[in-house]
Amino acid sequence: MTTLNDEVQTRRTFAIISHPDAGKTTLTEKLLLFGGAIRDAGTVKARKTGKYATSDWMEIEKQRGISVTSSVMQFDYDNFRVNILDTPGHQDFSEDTYRTLMAVDSAVMIVDSAKGIEDQTIKLFKVCRMRGIPIFTFINKMDRQGKMPLELLAELEEVLGIETYPMNWPIGMGKEFVGVYDRFNNRIEQFKSGDEDRFLPLNDEGELAIDHELKESPLYEQTLEEIMLLTEAGNQFSKEKILAGTLSPVFFGSALTTFGVQTFLDAYLQFAPAPQPRNSTVGEIEPNNDDFSGFIFKIQANMNPKHRDRIAFLRICSGKFERGMSVYLSRTGKPINLSSSTQFLADDRNTVNEAVGGDIIGLYDTGNYQIGDTITTSKEMYQFDRLPQFTPEIFMRVTAKNVMKQKHFHKGINQLVQEGAIQLFKTVRMEEYLLGAVGQLQFEVFEHRMRNEYNVDVIMERMGSKITRWTEDQKVDENLHSTRSILVKDRYDQYAFLFENDFALRWFQDKKPDVKLYNPMDSE
Ligand code: GDP
Repeated sequence: MTTLNDEVQTRRTFAIISHPDAGKTTLTEKLLLFGGAIRDAGTVKARKTGKYATSDWMEIEKQRGISVTSSVMQFDYDNFRVNILDTPGHQDFSEDTYRTLMAVDSAVMIVDSAKGIEDQTIKLFKVCRMRGIPIFTFINKMDRQGKMPLELLAELEEVLGIETYPMNWPIGMGKEFVGVYDRFNNRIEQFKSGDEDRFLPLNDEGELAIDHELKESPLYEQTLEEIMLLTEAGNQFSKEKILAGTLSPVFFGSALTTFGVQTFLDAYLQFAPAPQPRNSTVGEIEPNNDDFSGFIFKIQANMNPKHRDRIAFLRICSGKFERGMSVYLSRTGKPINLSSSTQFLADDRNTVNEAVGGDIIGLYDTGNYQIGDTITTSKEMYQFDRLPQFTPEIFMRVTAKNVMKQKHFHKGINQLVQEGAIQLFKTVRMEEYLLGAVGQLQFEVFEHRMRNEYNVDVIMERMGSKITRWTEDQKVDENLHSTRSILVKDRYDQYAFLFENDFALRWFQDKKPDVKLYNPMDSE
C-alpha cells in the first residue's frame, strides 16, 4: 500500500524563471511532451500567442467559469508527478509572479546563450535566493552562436553570486554544434544523430571509449582541455550545496530541437527536493502530516464584469486533499467545504479528486480567500508564515475622480491592498496615496477592479520608476523628504523612501549614514 509519504516523495514542484524569449514556453512544452501531458508541440505556444485564449474564453462563457490559462501544469514522468508553475513575463509581470515562487520547492532558470543573464532573470533569481531554494540552470539555444561557455559561467557566478557546476559542456556551438560532453553521465550526447548513435561512451580518463570520427575534430580536443580546466579549477559537485541553493547545476542544450532536455529532466528529478516542510505559527508542518493544509499564493480574478467568481491557487503543504472535505480558514476560523475545486493540466482543466503536498489546486472563490491565507483541517488553525513584501519599482499617485465617493474609494483600496493586488504608501507630508507595483499589469487590474467591484473611477497619475528602500527606524526626520527621496509610510506604518534613481539613493546614503535603509529582496 502506498503511504502518504510515498506519494509526497514522488512530487516535484518548480517554476521556470527566465527573461522573455529565452525559451521558457518551448522548454515547458518539451517537458510536457515527455510526460505525455500534451500530444502536440504547439499547444503551450498557442496559449501564449492567444490563439487558445479566444476559444477558451468562449468555452468559459458557456460554463460560467473562468479561464486559468493553465498557469499550472502537471505531468507524470518516470514515477514522478511534476508540477510546473508559470511565472508570466512581459506585460503580465506582477507581484503574483514573485508569489508563485513562494509555492515551489525549486526553480529552473533558463538563460539565452547569446544574451546571458538578463533583468527579469535577476529579479526572479533574487526571490529564489531569498527562500534558499535549489536553482537548476538550463543554458538554451546552443544551436545558435552565443557567448563562450566559460564566459557564461563567469557571468552566472558574478552577477548572481552563486557557484555553478556544469553537468555537461558544449562541443562547439551554432552551426558547429556537435553536442555535449556529459560529465554527469560520462558520455557524449551528439546533436545530429539517430537514436542508436546518440550517446558515445567515455572511458575512465574521460575520453571517447570507442573509435569515432569526433576524435579527429579540433573541437573535441578543445572540449577535453576545457573539461580538464573545469575539473581542476572549477567547483566541486555538491548535492548539499544544490539543496541549499548555493550551487546551481548547469546544463547546456537547445529546447527548440529538444536537445539535452531529457538528460536535464532526468538529472533534475534526481536532485530536486520533494515537497519541503513549511513554517507556521505552531512550528514546521511536515508534508506527511495527516492533517490537510495549504496556503493561497495567487488569486486570479475574472476580468469579465458579469462574473464575479475567481480562482484561488492553493499550494498543498500537508495531508491529502479530498473532494468535498471540510476545512478551516485560519484567518477567520470559518469552516469551508471544498466541493468545487479544479486541478490544472496543460490540455484542459480536470476536476481534482485527490492531491497531496506539493500539488497545486485551484479553488473556486466567491470572495472567501485572500492571498497568503492558510486553510487546514487541523483544529489548531495554524497559519503559515506570511508571504513577504516585494520591492515595488513603479508608482502611481491615485485619487478618486468623484470626491463624493471617498468612502467606496477607501474601502476598495484597502481591500485590494490587503489581498496583495497592489501596495499602498502614504506620503508623510501631504498624505497622498501612492500605489506601488512590480509590473504595469497590477495598475490595470487595480483600476479595473475599483470600477467594477467598488464602483469608483480613479485618477491615476504616473510617477515612473523609483527605488524603494525601507528603514526600520521608528522615527524619521520628515525634513529628509524631497522630490528625489519621497518619504512615505507603508500600510504597516513602516517608513520608506522612494528614490528617484540610483544616484539619489547613493547620495542619500552618503549624506545620511545614520538612516539604515534596507531592501527586503536582498537576502544578505
Ligand atoms: P519565452 O518567451 O521564454 O517563453 O520564449 P519562447 O519559448 O517563446 O522562445 C522564444 C523564441 O526563441 C522562439 O522564437 C523560439 O522558437 C526560440 N527558441 C527557443 N528555444 C530555442 C533554441 O533552443 N534554439 C533556437 N535557435 N531558438 C529557440
